[in-house]
Amino acid sequence: MNVLIAEDERATQARLVSYLREWGYAPVAVRDGAEAWDTFLSGDFKCVISDWMMPRMDGLELVKAIRGHENHGYVYVILLTGRTDKQNLVEGMEAGADDFLTKPFDKDELRVRLRAGRRITELEARLAERNRELSVFTSVASHDLREPLRTISGFIGLLERKYKGQLDEEADEYIQFITDGAERMRALVTDLLSYARMESRQSEFEAVNTREIVEDKLAALGAAIEECGARIICGELPTIEGDPTQLSQVFQNLIGNGIKYRGDASPVIKVGAVQRAEDWRFTVEDNGIGIPPEQATAIFEPFRRLHGAGSKYQGSGIGLAICKKVVERHGGRIWVESAPGGGSIFNFTIPKHA
Ligand code: ADP
Repeated sequence: MNVLIAEDERATQARLVSYLREWGYAPVAVRDGAEAWDTFLSGDFKCVISDWMMPRMDGLELVKAIRGHENHGYVYVILLTGRTDKQNLVEGMEAGADDFLTKPFDKDELRVRLRAGRRITELEARLAERNRELSVFTSVASHDLREPLRTISGFIGLLERKYKGQLDEEADEYIQFITDGAERMRALVTDLLSYARMESRQSEFEAVNTREIVEDKLAALGAAIEECGARIICGELPTIEGDPTQLSQVFQNLIGNGIKYRGDASPVIKVGAVQRAEDWRFTVEDNGIGIPPEQATAIFEPFRRLHGAGSKYQGSGIGLAICKKVVERHGGRIWVESAPGGGSIFNFTIPKHA
């Protein structure tokens, strides 16, 4: 494992390098924070041991830069410091350090702390690999499922057109069941594919006018809105920094659900945004059937449906999982406030500087 050592004291640096080599690591040592940052960017380091006090860029700034950078895999950071009080420890950990070692450090303590770091980075790498494999599998599987599905839908359509009225009523009903089933499966495979694509797709951030996005979505949902007589009330919506395609999917899913999960009354959906110190908080509020509070977290998991097979509400259970993924990719959070029969308020935040 490559380990970057940032330490300006020659003697401490030499000790670190010699111990790390003895334990089978590949250390690269530099003498200040700025040099450490340049070296970090040009190499593949899974672990960084950094002094706190250094010329040009101190340890805290270095940790923050590492955490702010899109790294390939997790980077385990140990801060080396003469400071021992709790306040400094909190400050270092909040900046993103994983562990501390006080100077003058003990050889065995360094060995076990490094071993803990190695375990974490190896676990993270294995997990990332499994995730990647799973996302490739989902993407290939859902893509390949489309082909036989197209054949089923095509021939059942042909059967319906050619033989409608010539078969008995029961046969017509069976054909309808197959058509509905194929349509449900098509929607499921499409959702699955967009979820899998979300995993592998990089976000493209730019200025996004959320008002325009919502207006586009309302136009796309026009038929559904008209059919149930929904009223959409849209407050002031800002221009934010984000990925327009992904954010558009969030609004579509939330507004679409507001219409879909309606009760007896015609849907009234309010879309709004409030500016806060660090972020924007968006809300999509409906007057629909609501969600039991104990399910408020679970509904954001893939395939989690409260109104599953046999209910009049059709879906795949992937929409909210996509919303969660998009919002978290933007550095925000999504949650719902709701009660059965009392409508729902979906909230999500998008940082001002995503
Ligand atoms: P889908 O709508 O395809 O089932 P989602 O991921 O969008 O999938 O939603 C997951 C589940 O959360 C839904 O099946 C439904 O039970 C519940 N749900 C989502 N939005 C609402 C809403 N606005 N009101 C009531 N229930 C909702």
